[in-house]
Parts: sequence; structure tokens; C-alpha cells
Amino acid sequence: MCAAKVLGYAARAVGQPLEPFEYAPPDLGEHDVRVSVTHCGVCHTDLHAIDNYYGVVKYPFVPGHEIVGHVSESGPAVSGLKEGDRVGIGWLGRSCGTCEWCLKGEEQLCMDIVPSGTWVPYGGFSTSVLADHRFVYPLPSAMPPQIAAVLMCAGVTVYSPLRAHAAGPALKVGVVGVGGLGHLAIQFAHALGCEVTAISSSPKKKEDALAFGADRFIDSNDLAALREIDYAFDMLMCTSSGGVGWEALLMTLKKRGKLILLGFPDVSLNSTDLVVHELSITGSFLGNRATMREMLTFAHDHEIAPQVEQMPMTKVNEALQRVRENKARYRIVLVN
Ligand SMILES: [Zn+2]
Ligand SMILES: [Zn+2]
Repeated sequence: MCAAKVLGYAARAVGQPLEPFEYAPPDLGEHDVRVSVTHCGVCHTDLHAIDNYYGVVKYPFVPGHEIVGHVSESGPAVSGLKEGDRVGIGWLGRSCGTCEWCLKGEEQLCMDIVPSGTWVPYGGFSTSVLADHRFVYPLPSAMPPQIAAVLMCAGVTVYSPLRAHAAGPALKVGVVGVGGLGHLAIQFAHALGCEVTAISSSPKKKEDALAFGADRFIDSNDLAALREIDYAFDMLMCTSSGGVGWEALLMTLKKRGKLILLGFPDVSLNSTDLVVHELSITGSFLGNRATMREMLTFAHDHEIAPQVEQMPMTKVNEALQRVRENKARYRIVLVN
């Protein structure tokens, strides 16, 4: 048995900075593996959870769900993974396995989603973490750990809607926001053969967006430029959390186009265009296990590479602050 204490970083109460937190290793279920964490990415969702935005967090709360590490212990029902294997784990660490969504292989929609998060009981800003082995993914051997970490959440979050909405060479995609999610959405959409337009309120992101594979860049404050692309996009992926001019944006969609929300922006819009142009607005949450495996292979084959700043795990509060202030370029990964 694994008797040594686990060292994590926990928020003791809503919105508090994280503090070192020692706890006994949680009991290993029969399908679980224990993974020694080497790298863990920082995601906006970690901040939302620290702030109890979802109203379901229990404190002390150890965030972290973009995890890369090595299997250190396996339950008796684990197959396909062995001690020492290098693996990745995303937000979903398990699921009920019996609800209608789990039975359809859409575990990210599990009816029992709250206890399914990898951060229950404690997440990846830690020396080790537990997850059901069916949600633990072997990584391509050549993939650097900091790249794999970011793909476990941000990667699948942008790849899943591109696949679900049949992105391909004929598709014109607008990516709204060139940040942690947006810079990856541009890369995946470009690699899938889409014509990609990056839309951002920061003109200084233009050079980066083109380097990530965007075919063009539009400043979202430039209404004349937005006007020029009326009825252009089959699909808009909104990765921004705010500051979006919805009406101008909807005008850029083709009739029956889709606006896909990946973050949690406040949305307000005039329903006329929505009705008259038969537009759809939909959310997209993570991705299922099959999509996760496909995404890892696709990212490896197409050399998708999130831009990552690496920081030691001990600087977790500094890292969270940089993400809170949107200063990360473009993701931060903590290293144990
Ligand atoms: Zn995340
Ligand atoms: Zn379920």
C-alpha cells in the first residue's frame, strides 16, 4: 500500500490562495490507478472552481485537471495499464457508467458529473492523483509532457466540437478569442483543413494567430472589417469569456451557421438573426473518451503544439494569478 502522505496545494475556502496541504492517499478503487504527477496545466476552470462559481466545490479543494504523470499503483480490475506507464488525465476522472449518456459513450454528459471530476477527492496540483483507469490515457511516447498536459483539457475542448460538427476542407471556421483555447482551436481547425479566421479584440495577437495557422485575422472592434465578412462562416467557436459583440458576430455566420460556446461568456443578442437565418447556438463541454484518444493521435501526427510557460508547482499561486489576469502566453503548466 501507498502509505506516504500526499502533498497538494489546496484552497481552504472560497477564492483563497492555495496553501500546501498534506493528506492521506485516498483509497484505490478496484478500477482506479494512482498516478504520480509530473506536470499539471492551469485552466480557467480551476479558477472558477476555487471561486465556487459552480456551487459544488468542497474545501479544502485541490484543483488541477490537465495531468501528466506515471502510474504508481493499480486496482485489481485495471487492465491495459501498468506501473511506470506515462499517462494523461483530463477533467473527467470517472463516470457513473450506467446513465443514458454513459451508455452512449458520451461520458462528459454523465448525469452524475459532479463526483466525476478528477479533482474529487483531490486534483492534480499535487504529488499524486487517483482516477478510474478507463479515463487515463497512454500518451504518444514522443509527445512532450507539457504539451500533453494542455491537450488533456484545452485540446479536447476545442477538438471535440470541430469533429462533432464535421469540420473539413470545405468548412469556414471563425475562432473568437486568441488565448489558451483559441490558439489551439486555430491549430486544430487548420490541421483539419478548414479555412480559419481568427477574431480578437487585441490586434497585437495578429502575428501569433497567423503563425498558429489562421488564414486571416480580424480585429473584433473593427466593425467595418466584420461587416465585410457577413455570411462567411459555417461555424464560430467562441473561446472568449467576455467582451464579445454578439450582434456583429452573428452577422458573420452563414444561414444555418453554428455558434459554439466553449467558455462561459454572458450572452445577449437580438433573436431576429437567430430566427431568420436559422442559426444555432450550442455549448460544447470537454469530449468523450473516444474523442480524447483520437485527439491525442491527431495532435501527435499534426504536431499540434500549445504554447506553454512552465513554472514549478511551488509557484502555483503566481501561475493562477497570471491566468486570472489573462497574462499567460498561452497556457501555464506546473512542474513537480
Ligand atoms: Zn480545463
Ligand atoms: Zn453516467
